[in-house]
Amino acid sequence: MKKSLFKCSKGKCQNPAIIHQKYSGLHLCEPHFIEDVERKVKKEIRKQWLIERGDTIAVAMSGGKDSSSLLYLLKKIFHSRTDLEFISIAVDEGIKGFRSVTLRNAEKIAKDLGVELFSFSFKKEFGFTLDEIAAKGFEQAPCTFCGVLRRKVIDRKAKELGATKVATAHNLDDEVQTILINYIRGDIARLSRLRGRRNEFVPRIKPLRGVPEKEVALYALVAGIPISTVQCPYVKLSFRFTVKRMLNEFEMKHPGTKYSLMRGYERMSEFLPKEGRELLKCERCGEASASIICKACEIVERMRDGKN
Ligand code: SF4
Ligand code: ZN
Repeated sequence: MKKSLFKCSKGKCQNPAIIHQKYSGLHLCEPHFIEDVERKVKKEIRKQWLIERGDTIAVAMSGGKDSSSLLYLLKKIFHSRTDLEFISIAVDEGIKGFRSVTLRNAEKIAKDLGVELFSFSFKKEFGFTLDEIAAKGFEQAPCTFCGVLRRKVIDRKAKELGATKVATAHNLDDEVQTILINYIRGDIARLSRLRGRRNEFVPRIKPLRGVPEKEVALYALVAGIPISTVQCPYVKLSFRFTVKRMLNEFEMKHPGTKYSLMRGYERMSEFLPKEGRELLKCERCGEASASIICKACEIVERMRDGKN
């Protein structure tokens, strides 16, 4: 880590700073940075009433920096809560040279933290890997399929495992990207769904929602959490990637953009229409779905029929 010339801005602290948060104007030393991240996570948990007495929380683990930090943070923050149970769920999408590496990391972290890890794969659940989907050359980017199928596996398995909450590692950047993507597409239904899901699904919680991506990475580094840095070979093909780059450029030129987009969305979300329509049951898998055949089963059929 680079030694900073700046001192920590907190009170009389004389430690050298390890980060300059341009959006807050603060320079923070290592202990104050850790405190700041943990404060943001606790605030998010309080704000959304994310965790209740007796919860069994299934943490969606990929073995990357975000989910590894999330599991570590939850275990640290709630170490004295004997009424809570933590389990973790990993999904192997079947992405050669990538997922097997990060999953090894997930196994190690879960073991170190004493959390049971349940692993599943696209191949076993659906009969094909994401690499096989990508090889079909469908019009949509692989991420579109990956997201739908991964959500499906996590939802289904969390329910089967008796989880009362699913914790995902979405950070501030992920959330703001999703908000902006939905603004660009004018997708009001998705924007409103971001606030919370229907009762048919295990509720999702996002404790890292208030922490910028770079700070999650720095937190993992200073807390000594082993992370894997291999990148998914498909990431650059997604629309999200373009939005991510654009947002990072904005944030660099106008610090605070990400937080202000998030605040703007939160204010606006009160006025978004509530989802009124009853959910249907997917004709194929029998699970709750907005259409007669759910998105995941649609993908399974496309793979079977080879439709583009
Ligand atoms: Fe899946 Fe896209 Fe993430 Fe790769 S980058 S794991 S394809 S969602
Ligand atoms: Zn289905």
